[in-house]
Amino acid sequence: MNAPPALLTLDGWDRRYEELRREGLLDPACGGPLRRHVEDGDRRLLRLHFDDSPAALRLWNFLLTEEDRLHALRARGGKIVGAMKDLGTVPVLAYSLPGVTAFYPDGAWWTPCVMEMSDELLHEADRLGIDETFCPVRAMLGAFVTRRHFPIPDLLVCSAGAVCDDFSAIAQRLNGLGHPILWWEIPHRRAPDPGEPSVPLPGGGVAPRSQVAFVERELRRVGEVLSRLADVPLDEARLAAGVRRANGIRRRLRALRERVFTAPVAPLPALELLIAEMLAIHYCSDPAETEAVLDALLAETARRVAVGVGIAPADAVRVFWVNPVADLRMMNRFEAAGGRLCGTDFMFSHALDELPEDVGPFAALARAALADPMAGSAGDRADRIARDAIRFGAEAVVVSRIPGASHCATEGGRIAERVRQTLGIPLVEIEVPPLGDATAPVAETRLEALMETARARRKESR
Ligand code: SF4
Repeated sequence: MNAPPALLTLDGWDRRYEELRREGLLDPACGGPLRRHVEDGDRRLLRLHFDDSPAALRLWNFLLTEEDRLHALRARGGKIVGAMKDLGTVPVLAYSLPGVTAFYPDGAWWTPCVMEMSDELLHEADRLGIDETFCPVRAMLGAFVTRRHFPIPDLLVCSAGAVCDDFSAIAQRLNGLGHPILWWEIPHRRAPDPGEPSVPLPGGGVAPRSQVAFVERELRRVGEVLSRLADVPLDEARLAAGVRRANGIRRRLRALRERVFTAPVAPLPALELLIAEMLAIHYCSDPAETEAVLDALLAETARRVAVGVGIAPADAVRVFWVNPVADLRMMNRFEAAGGRLCGTDFMFSHALDELPEDVGPFAALARAALADPMAGSAGDRADRIARDAIRFGAEAVVVSRIPGASHCATEGGRIAERVRQTLGIPLVEIEVPPLGDATAPVAETRLEALMETARARRKESR
Protein backbone atom coordinates (compact mmCIF):
# COMPACT_ATOMS: atom_id res chain seq x y z
CA MET A 1 0.00 0.00 0.00
CA ASN A 2 2.88 2.35 0.81
CA ALA A 3 5.08 1.19 -2.08
CA PRO A 4 6.17 3.99 -4.38
CA PRO A 5 4.04 4.35 -7.50
CA ALA A 6 5.53 3.09 -10.75
CA LEU A 7 5.48 4.43 -14.28
CA LEU A 8 4.09 1.75 -16.56
CA THR A 9 4.35 1.04 -20.27
CA LEU A 10 1.21 -0.08 -22.03
CA ASP A 11 2.31 -3.71 -21.57
CA GLY A 12 2.70 -2.98 -17.88
CA TRP A 13 -0.80 -1.51 -17.82
CA ASP A 14 -2.22 -4.68 -19.43
CA ARG A 15 -0.97 -6.67 -16.46
CA ARG A 16 -1.91 -3.99 -13.94
CA TYR A 17 -5.45 -3.79 -15.32
CA GLU A 18 -5.98 -7.52 -14.95
CA GLU A 19 -4.61 -7.34 -11.40
CA LEU A 20 -6.93 -4.45 -10.51
CA ARG A 21 -9.92 -6.28 -11.97
CA ARG A 22 -9.10 -9.35 -9.88
CA GLU A 23 -8.93 -7.08 -6.86
CA GLY A 24 -12.43 -5.77 -7.63
CA LEU A 25 -11.88 -2.62 -9.72
CA LEU A 26 -15.20 -1.34 -11.00
CA ASP A 27 -14.84 0.53 -14.28
CA PRO A 28 -16.84 3.72 -14.91
CA ALA A 29 -18.82 3.94 -18.15
CA CYS A 30 -15.76 5.06 -20.11
CA GLY A 31 -13.47 2.54 -18.41
CA GLY A 32 -11.64 -0.54 -19.68
CA PRO A 33 -8.09 -1.54 -20.58
CA LEU A 34 -5.95 1.20 -22.13
CA ARG A 35 -4.82 -1.20 -24.86
CA ARG A 36 -8.14 -0.92 -26.70
CA HIS A 37 -7.38 2.68 -27.65
CA VAL A 38 -4.35 1.50 -29.64
CA GLU A 39 -6.70 -0.67 -31.65
CA ASP A 40 -8.63 2.57 -32.39
CA GLY A 41 -5.43 4.11 -33.79
CA ASP A 42 -3.97 5.87 -30.72
CA ARG A 43 -0.51 4.42 -31.38
CA ARG A 44 1.42 6.96 -29.32
CA LEU A 45 0.19 5.15 -26.22
CA LEU A 46 2.69 2.37 -27.09
CA ARG A 47 5.52 4.83 -26.40
CA LEU A 48 4.27 6.59 -23.29
CA HIS A 49 4.82 5.87 -19.63
CA PHE A 50 1.75 6.13 -17.45
CA ASP A 51 1.04 6.52 -13.76
CA ASP A 52 -0.01 3.14 -12.33
CA SER A 53 -3.02 4.24 -10.24
CA PRO A 54 -6.68 3.45 -10.95
CA ALA A 55 -7.20 7.23 -10.80
CA ALA A 56 -4.79 7.70 -13.72
CA LEU A 57 -6.46 4.86 -15.63
CA ARG A 58 -9.78 6.64 -15.22
CA LEU A 59 -8.24 9.93 -16.41
CA TRP A 60 -6.76 8.36 -19.55
CA ASN A 61 -9.91 6.44 -20.40
CA PHE A 62 -11.94 9.60 -19.95
CA LEU A 63 -9.66 11.58 -22.27
CA LEU A 64 -9.47 8.92 -24.94
CA THR A 65 -13.23 8.31 -25.16
CA GLU A 66 -14.28 11.89 -25.79
CA GLU A 67 -15.09 11.41 -29.47
CA ASP A 68 -17.30 8.39 -28.64
CA ARG A 69 -19.03 10.47 -26.00
CA LEU A 70 -19.74 13.28 -28.46
CA HIS A 71 -21.11 10.86 -31.06
CA ALA A 72 -23.34 9.24 -28.41
CA LEU A 73 -24.61 12.67 -27.34
CA ARG A 74 -25.43 13.50 -30.95
CA ALA A 75 -27.26 10.17 -31.35
CA ARG A 76 -29.36 10.99 -28.27
CA GLY A 77 -30.35 14.33 -29.79
CA GLY A 78 -28.10 16.53 -27.65
CA LYS A 79 -26.90 19.86 -29.01
CA ILE A 80 -23.17 20.17 -29.55
CA VAL A 81 -21.31 23.47 -29.50
CA GLY A 82 -17.81 23.76 -30.91
CA ALA A 83 -16.14 26.47 -28.87
CA MET A 84 -12.93 27.73 -30.42
CA LYS A 85 -9.93 29.61 -29.11
CA ASP A 86 -11.20 31.18 -25.87
CA LEU A 87 -10.33 28.11 -23.74
CA GLY A 88 -12.69 28.01 -20.82
CA THR A 89 -15.29 30.75 -21.29
CA VAL A 90 -17.95 29.75 -23.85
CA PRO A 91 -18.26 26.20 -22.41
CA VAL A 92 -19.43 27.66 -19.08
CA LEU A 93 -22.26 29.37 -20.97
CA ALA A 94 -23.09 26.24 -22.97
CA TYR A 95 -23.06 23.77 -20.05
CA SER A 96 -25.44 26.03 -18.14
CA LEU A 97 -28.16 25.03 -20.59
CA PRO A 98 -29.91 21.64 -20.48
CA GLY A 99 -29.01 19.26 -23.30
CA VAL A 100 -26.04 21.32 -24.52
CA THR A 101 -22.46 20.04 -24.58
CA ALA A 102 -19.43 22.08 -25.60
CA PHE A 103 -16.02 20.93 -26.73
CA TYR A 104 -12.98 22.47 -28.41
CA PRO A 105 -12.32 21.33 -31.98
CA ASP A 106 -8.92 22.99 -31.33
CA GLY A 107 -8.17 19.91 -29.22
CA ALA A 108 -7.59 18.05 -32.51
CA TRP A 109 -4.10 19.55 -32.39
CA TRP A 110 -3.10 16.52 -30.28
CA THR A 111 -4.58 13.95 -32.71
CA PRO A 112 -1.50 13.80 -35.02
CA CYS A 113 0.59 13.03 -31.93
CA VAL A 114 -1.79 10.51 -30.35
CA MET A 115 -2.31 8.72 -33.69
CA GLU A 116 1.34 9.15 -34.76
CA MET A 117 0.30 10.95 -37.94
CA SER A 118 -1.80 8.01 -39.20
CA ASP A 119 -4.83 10.33 -39.09
CA GLU A 120 -3.59 12.45 -42.06
CA LEU A 121 -5.06 15.59 -40.47
CA LEU A 122 -2.01 17.72 -41.14
CA HIS A 123 -1.94 16.58 -44.78
CA GLU A 124 -5.54 17.67 -45.12
CA ALA A 125 -4.64 21.07 -43.71
CA ASP A 126 -1.71 21.28 -46.17
CA ARG A 127 -4.11 20.55 -48.99
CA LEU A 128 -6.27 23.45 -47.85
CA GLY A 129 -3.31 25.82 -47.97
CA ILE A 130 -2.67 25.82 -44.22
CA ASP A 131 0.81 24.34 -44.16
CA GLU A 132 3.50 23.79 -41.53
CA THR A 133 4.14 27.52 -41.26
CA PHE A 134 1.01 27.45 -39.05
CA CYS A 135 0.81 25.93 -35.60
CA PRO A 136 -0.42 22.30 -35.21
CA VAL A 137 -3.90 23.55 -34.32
CA ARG A 138 -4.36 23.42 -38.12
CA ALA A 139 -5.13 19.72 -37.55
CA MET A 140 -8.61 20.95 -36.61
CA LEU A 141 -9.29 21.77 -40.28
CA GLY A 142 -8.44 18.21 -41.28
CA ALA A 143 -10.83 16.87 -38.63
CA PHE A 144 -13.70 18.94 -40.09
CA VAL A 145 -12.91 17.75 -43.63
CA THR A 146 -12.45 14.04 -42.91
CA ARG A 147 -15.32 13.86 -40.38
CA ARG A 148 -13.58 10.84 -38.86
CA HIS A 149 -13.18 12.32 -35.40
CA PHE A 150 -15.71 14.53 -33.63
CA PRO A 151 -19.26 15.11 -34.94
CA ILE A 152 -19.73 18.41 -36.77
CA PRO A 153 -21.08 20.77 -34.08
CA ASP A 154 -24.55 22.29 -34.27
CA LEU A 155 -22.98 25.66 -33.57
CA LEU A 156 -19.43 26.97 -33.86
CA VAL A 157 -18.39 29.90 -31.68
CA CYS A 158 -14.97 31.52 -31.97
CA SER A 159 -13.34 34.52 -30.34
CA ALA A 160 -11.86 37.18 -32.58
CA GLY A 161 -9.80 40.27 -31.90
CA ALA A 162 -6.98 39.56 -29.47
CA VAL A 163 -6.35 36.20 -31.09
CA CYS A 164 -3.17 34.85 -32.72
CA ASP A 165 -2.77 35.07 -36.49
CA ASP A 166 -2.72 31.29 -36.82
CA PHE A 167 -6.09 30.76 -35.24
CA SER A 168 -7.70 33.67 -37.11
CA ALA A 169 -6.53 32.33 -40.45
CA ILE A 170 -7.50 28.74 -39.68
CA ALA A 171 -10.95 29.64 -38.34
CA GLN A 172 -11.62 31.92 -41.34
CA ARG A 173 -10.64 29.07 -43.68
CA LEU A 174 -13.05 26.81 -41.80
CA ASN A 175 -15.80 29.40 -42.15
CA GLY A 176 -15.05 29.55 -45.88
CA LEU A 177 -15.39 25.78 -46.15
CA GLY A 178 -19.07 26.05 -45.23
CA HIS A 179 -18.90 25.81 -41.43
CA PRO A 180 -20.45 29.11 -40.33
CA ILE A 181 -18.96 30.60 -37.19
CA LEU A 182 -20.51 32.88 -34.59
CA TRP A 183 -17.67 35.33 -33.86
CA TRP A 184 -17.44 37.26 -30.65
CA GLU A 185 -14.84 39.86 -29.95
CA ILE A 186 -12.28 39.98 -27.20
CA PRO A 187 -10.20 43.15 -27.23
CA HIS A 188 -6.50 43.14 -26.47
CA ARG A 189 -6.30 43.63 -22.69
CA ARG A 190 -4.60 46.90 -21.86
CA ALA A 191 -3.58 48.57 -18.65
CA PRO A 192 -6.16 51.13 -17.49
CA ASP A 193 -5.22 54.75 -18.22
CA PRO A 194 -4.46 56.90 -15.15
CA GLY A 195 -7.74 57.57 -13.35
CA GLU A 196 -9.72 55.26 -15.64
CA PRO A 197 -12.24 53.03 -13.79
CA SER A 198 -10.87 49.51 -13.61
CA VAL A 199 -11.92 46.04 -12.53
CA PRO A 200 -9.85 43.29 -10.87
CA LEU A 201 -9.49 40.10 -12.88
CA PRO A 202 -9.19 36.51 -11.67
CA GLY A 203 -5.51 35.66 -11.29
CA GLY A 204 -4.45 39.08 -10.04
CA GLY A 205 -4.63 41.31 -13.13
CA VAL A 206 -6.73 44.35 -13.81
CA ALA A 207 -8.60 45.68 -16.86
CA PRO A 208 -10.44 48.87 -17.76
CA ARG A 209 -14.09 48.66 -16.75
CA SER A 210 -15.09 49.62 -20.31
CA GLN A 211 -13.33 46.53 -21.70
CA VAL A 212 -15.05 44.25 -19.21
CA ALA A 213 -18.43 45.80 -20.06
CA PHE A 214 -17.74 45.31 -23.78
CA VAL A 215 -16.88 41.62 -23.34
CA GLU A 216 -19.92 41.13 -21.12
CA ARG A 217 -22.14 42.45 -23.93
CA GLU A 218 -20.43 40.10 -26.37
CA LEU A 219 -21.00 37.12 -24.09
CA ARG A 220 -24.65 38.07 -23.64
CA ARG A 221 -24.94 38.04 -27.44
CA VAL A 222 -23.39 34.54 -27.54
CA GLY A 223 -25.75 33.53 -24.73
CA GLU A 224 -28.78 34.58 -26.80
CA VAL A 225 -27.70 32.33 -29.68
CA LEU A 226 -27.06 29.44 -27.28
CA SER A 227 -30.52 29.99 -25.77
CA ARG A 228 -32.09 29.62 -29.20
CA LEU A 229 -30.07 26.44 -29.80
CA ALA A 230 -31.24 24.94 -26.50
CA ASP A 231 -34.74 26.45 -26.76
CA VAL A 232 -34.29 27.52 -23.13
CA PRO A 233 -33.35 31.05 -22.01
CA LEU A 234 -29.86 31.42 -20.54
CA ASP A 235 -30.92 33.63 -17.64
CA GLU A 236 -28.70 34.85 -14.81
CA ALA A 237 -29.85 32.13 -12.41
CA ARG A 238 -28.99 29.34 -14.82
CA LEU A 239 -25.63 30.86 -15.64
CA ALA A 240 -24.85 31.48 -11.96
CA ALA A 241 -25.37 27.75 -11.36
CA GLY A 242 -23.01 27.03 -14.27
CA VAL A 243 -20.42 29.36 -12.76
CA ARG A 244 -20.70 27.60 -9.39
CA ARG A 245 -20.17 24.23 -11.06
CA ALA A 246 -17.17 25.57 -13.00
CA ASN A 247 -15.74 26.85 -9.74
CA GLY A 248 -16.16 23.46 -8.11
CA ILE A 249 -14.00 21.97 -10.86
CA ARG A 250 -11.51 24.85 -10.70
CA ARG A 251 -11.19 24.44 -6.92
CA ARG A 252 -10.44 20.75 -7.36
CA LEU A 253 -7.75 21.58 -9.89
CA ARG A 254 -6.29 24.28 -7.67
CA ALA A 255 -6.02 21.75 -4.83
CA LEU A 256 -4.47 19.16 -7.15
CA ARG A 257 -1.93 21.59 -8.59
CA GLU A 258 -0.93 22.95 -5.20
CA ARG A 259 -0.47 19.42 -3.89
CA VAL A 260 1.59 18.33 -6.90
CA PHE A 261 3.75 21.45 -6.94
CA THR A 262 4.42 21.67 -3.21
CA ALA A 263 4.76 18.03 -2.06
CA PRO A 264 8.29 17.08 -1.01
CA VAL A 265 8.14 14.18 -3.49
CA ALA A 266 6.13 14.69 -6.71
CA PRO A 267 2.92 12.68 -6.21
CA LEU A 268 1.74 12.70 -9.84
CA PRO A 269 3.61 12.58 -13.17
CA ALA A 270 3.80 15.68 -15.37
CA LEU A 271 1.89 13.96 -18.17
CA GLU A 272 -1.13 13.13 -16.03
CA LEU A 273 -1.13 16.62 -14.51
CA LEU A 274 -1.14 18.21 -17.97
CA ILE A 275 -4.17 16.13 -18.96
CA ALA A 276 -5.95 16.80 -15.67
CA GLU A 277 -5.50 20.56 -16.17
CA MET A 278 -6.97 20.28 -19.67
CA LEU A 279 -10.24 19.07 -18.10
CA ALA A 280 -10.85 22.63 -16.89
CA ILE A 281 -11.52 24.07 -20.32
CA HIS A 282 -14.58 22.05 -21.37
CA TYR A 283 -14.77 19.17 -18.89
CA CYS A 284 -13.90 16.67 -21.65
CA SER A 285 -17.60 16.79 -22.62
CA ASP A 286 -18.84 15.42 -19.27
CA PRO A 287 -18.75 17.65 -16.15
CA ALA A 288 -19.85 14.87 -13.75
CA GLU A 289 -17.08 12.49 -14.87
CA THR A 290 -14.60 15.37 -14.71
CA GLU A 291 -15.52 15.85 -11.06
CA ALA A 292 -15.18 12.13 -10.38
CA VAL A 293 -11.81 11.89 -12.17
CA LEU A 294 -10.43 14.86 -10.26
CA ASP A 295 -11.74 13.54 -6.95
CA ALA A 296 -9.97 10.23 -7.62
CA LEU A 297 -6.70 12.01 -8.48
CA LEU A 298 -7.01 14.16 -5.36
CA ALA A 299 -7.52 11.10 -3.18
CA GLU A 300 -4.58 9.25 -4.76
CA THR A 301 -2.21 12.22 -4.45
CA ALA A 302 -3.31 12.83 -0.84
CA ARG A 303 -2.53 9.20 -0.03
CA ARG A 304 0.88 9.38 -1.66
CA VAL A 305 1.76 12.63 0.08
CA ALA A 306 0.66 11.21 3.43
CA VAL A 307 3.02 8.24 3.12
CA GLY A 308 5.78 10.24 1.43
CA VAL A 309 5.94 8.40 -1.90
CA GLY A 310 5.96 9.79 -5.41
CA ILE A 311 6.98 9.31 -9.01
CA ALA A 312 10.33 11.11 -9.01
CA PRO A 313 13.34 11.09 -6.71
CA ALA A 314 13.11 13.53 -3.81
CA ASP A 315 15.98 15.56 -5.28
CA ALA A 316 14.33 16.02 -8.71
CA VAL A 317 14.72 19.57 -10.03
CA ARG A 318 11.67 21.74 -9.43
CA VAL A 319 10.64 23.11 -12.82
CA PHE A 320 8.03 25.62 -13.96
CA TRP A 321 6.72 24.58 -17.40
CA VAL A 322 5.38 27.08 -19.96
CA ASN A 323 3.08 26.04 -22.87
CA PRO A 324 1.53 22.66 -23.60
CA VAL A 325 3.63 20.15 -25.53
CA ALA A 326 2.46 19.06 -28.99
CA ASP A 327 4.07 15.64 -28.30
CA LEU A 328 2.84 14.16 -25.02
CA ARG A 329 5.95 11.97 -24.79
CA MET A 330 8.00 15.05 -23.96
CA MET A 331 6.55 15.07 -20.44
CA ASN A 332 7.96 11.56 -19.87
CA ARG A 333 11.31 12.71 -21.25
CA PHE A 334 11.30 15.68 -18.91
CA GLU A 335 11.00 13.45 -15.86
CA ALA A 336 13.59 11.02 -17.22
CA ALA A 337 15.96 14.00 -17.46
CA GLY A 338 15.55 14.60 -13.71
CA GLY A 339 12.76 17.17 -13.49
CA ARG A 340 9.42 17.45 -11.73
CA LEU A 341 6.70 20.05 -12.15
CA CYS A 342 6.48 22.95 -9.74
CA GLY A 343 4.21 25.29 -11.64
CA THR A 344 2.64 25.37 -15.08
CA ASP A 345 1.25 27.83 -17.58
CA PHE A 346 -0.31 25.73 -20.31
CA MET A 347 -1.85 28.88 -21.88
CA PHE A 348 -5.17 28.68 -20.06
CA SER A 349 -4.52 29.90 -16.53
CA HIS A 350 -7.76 31.91 -16.83
CA ALA A 351 -9.66 28.59 -17.04
CA LEU A 352 -8.14 27.49 -13.72
CA ASP A 353 -8.69 30.68 -11.73
CA GLU A 354 -11.96 30.76 -9.83
CA LEU A 355 -14.69 32.93 -11.33
CA PRO A 356 -15.90 35.73 -9.06
CA GLU A 357 -19.30 34.92 -7.56
CA ASP A 358 -19.89 38.37 -6.06
CA VAL A 359 -20.71 39.91 -9.46
CA GLY A 360 -23.24 38.87 -12.12
CA PRO A 361 -22.30 35.65 -13.95
CA PHE A 362 -21.89 37.31 -17.37
CA ALA A 363 -19.60 39.91 -15.81
CA ALA A 364 -17.67 37.13 -14.05
CA LEU A 365 -17.08 35.34 -17.34
CA ALA A 366 -16.12 38.61 -19.05
CA ARG A 367 -13.46 39.15 -16.40
CA ALA A 368 -12.17 35.60 -16.89
CA ALA A 369 -12.07 36.00 -20.68
CA LEU A 370 -10.02 39.17 -20.32
CA ALA A 371 -7.66 37.41 -17.92
CA ASP A 372 -6.68 35.03 -20.77
CA PRO A 373 -2.86 35.13 -20.87
CA MET A 374 -3.09 35.17 -24.67
CA ALA A 375 -5.38 38.24 -24.68
CA GLY A 376 -2.82 40.50 -23.02
CA SER A 377 0.84 41.29 -23.44
CA ALA A 378 3.68 38.76 -23.24
CA GLY A 379 4.99 40.95 -20.39
CA ASP A 380 1.83 40.38 -18.34
CA ARG A 381 2.16 36.65 -18.93
CA ALA A 382 5.82 36.71 -17.95
CA ASP A 383 4.96 38.59 -14.72
CA ARG A 384 2.48 35.95 -13.67
CA ILE A 385 4.87 33.13 -14.54
CA ALA A 386 7.58 34.78 -12.43
CA ARG A 387 5.14 35.29 -9.52
CA ASP A 388 3.96 31.68 -9.61
CA ALA A 389 7.50 30.33 -10.06
CA ILE A 390 8.51 32.16 -6.88
CA ARG A 391 5.41 30.95 -5.03
CA PHE A 392 6.08 27.29 -5.86
CA GLY A 393 9.84 27.50 -5.35
CA ALA A 394 10.80 26.62 -8.93
CA GLU A 395 14.51 26.10 -9.56
CA ALA A 396 14.30 26.29 -13.36
CA VAL A 397 11.90 27.18 -16.17
CA VAL A 398 11.19 25.36 -19.42
CA VAL A 399 9.51 27.25 -22.26
CA SER A 400 8.17 24.69 -24.67
CA ARG A 401 7.85 26.21 -28.13
CA ILE A 402 5.19 25.07 -30.55
CA PRO A 403 6.45 24.82 -34.17
CA GLY A 404 4.88 27.42 -36.47
CA ALA A 405 2.96 29.05 -33.61
CA SER A 406 2.83 32.81 -34.08
CA HIS A 407 2.30 33.38 -30.36
CA CYS A 408 5.73 31.83 -29.68
CA ALA A 409 7.64 34.28 -31.87
CA THR A 410 8.81 36.67 -29.15
CA GLU A 411 7.25 35.61 -25.87
CA GLY A 412 10.06 33.17 -24.95
CA GLY A 413 12.49 36.10 -24.89
CA ARG A 414 10.16 38.20 -22.72
CA ILE A 415 9.64 35.36 -20.28
CA ALA A 416 13.39 34.63 -20.14
CA GLU A 417 14.17 38.29 -19.46
CA ARG A 418 11.60 38.52 -16.64
CA VAL A 419 12.67 35.22 -15.08
CA ARG A 420 16.31 36.34 -15.16
CA GLN A 421 15.45 39.70 -13.57
CA THR A 422 13.15 38.45 -10.85
CA LEU A 423 14.40 34.95 -10.01
CA GLY A 424 17.81 34.49 -11.60
CA ILE A 425 17.07 30.81 -12.20
CA PRO A 426 18.05 28.94 -15.38
CA LEU A 427 15.61 28.76 -18.28
CA VAL A 428 15.66 26.79 -21.47
CA GLU A 429 13.52 26.92 -24.60
CA ILE A 430 12.85 23.68 -26.45
CA GLU A 431 10.76 23.12 -29.55
CA VAL A 432 8.33 20.21 -29.45
CA PRO A 433 6.68 19.11 -32.73
CA PRO A 434 3.66 16.75 -32.72
CA LEU A 435 5.98 13.75 -33.17
CA GLY A 436 9.17 14.78 -31.46
CA ASP A 437 11.20 11.57 -31.76
CA ALA A 438 13.61 12.95 -34.37
CA THR A 439 14.35 16.11 -32.38
CA ALA A 440 14.18 14.45 -28.97
CA PRO A 441 17.97 14.00 -28.52
CA VAL A 442 18.48 17.78 -28.79
CA ALA A 443 15.63 18.52 -26.38
CA GLU A 444 16.85 15.87 -23.94
CA THR A 445 20.38 17.28 -23.97
CA ARG A 446 19.02 20.75 -23.26
CA LEU A 447 16.82 19.48 -20.46
CA GLU A 448 19.68 17.53 -18.89
CA ALA A 449 21.92 20.60 -19.06
CA LEU A 450 19.16 22.64 -17.39
CA MET A 451 18.88 20.10 -14.55
CA GLU A 452 22.66 20.11 -14.06
CA THR A 453 22.74 23.90 -13.89
CA ALA A 454 19.87 23.97 -11.41
CA ARG A 455 21.53 21.32 -9.23
CA ALA A 456 24.80 23.27 -9.26
CA ARG A 457 22.95 26.41 -8.12
CA ARG A 458 21.26 24.35 -5.40
CA LYS A 459 24.66 23.22 -4.10
CA GLU A 460 26.07 26.74 -4.22
CA SER A 461 23.16 28.13 -2.21
CA ARG A 462 23.64 25.58 0.61
S1 SF4 B 1 -0.75 27.49 -29.87
FE1 SF4 B 1 -0.30 29.67 -30.12
S2 SF4 B 1 -0.30 30.01 -32.32
FE2 SF4 B 1 -1.32 28.04 -31.96
S3 SF4 B 1 -3.50 28.56 -31.83
FE3 SF4 B 1 -2.70 28.59 -29.75
S4 SF4 B 1 -2.13 30.73 -29.38
FE4 SF4 B 1 -2.35 30.43 -31.59
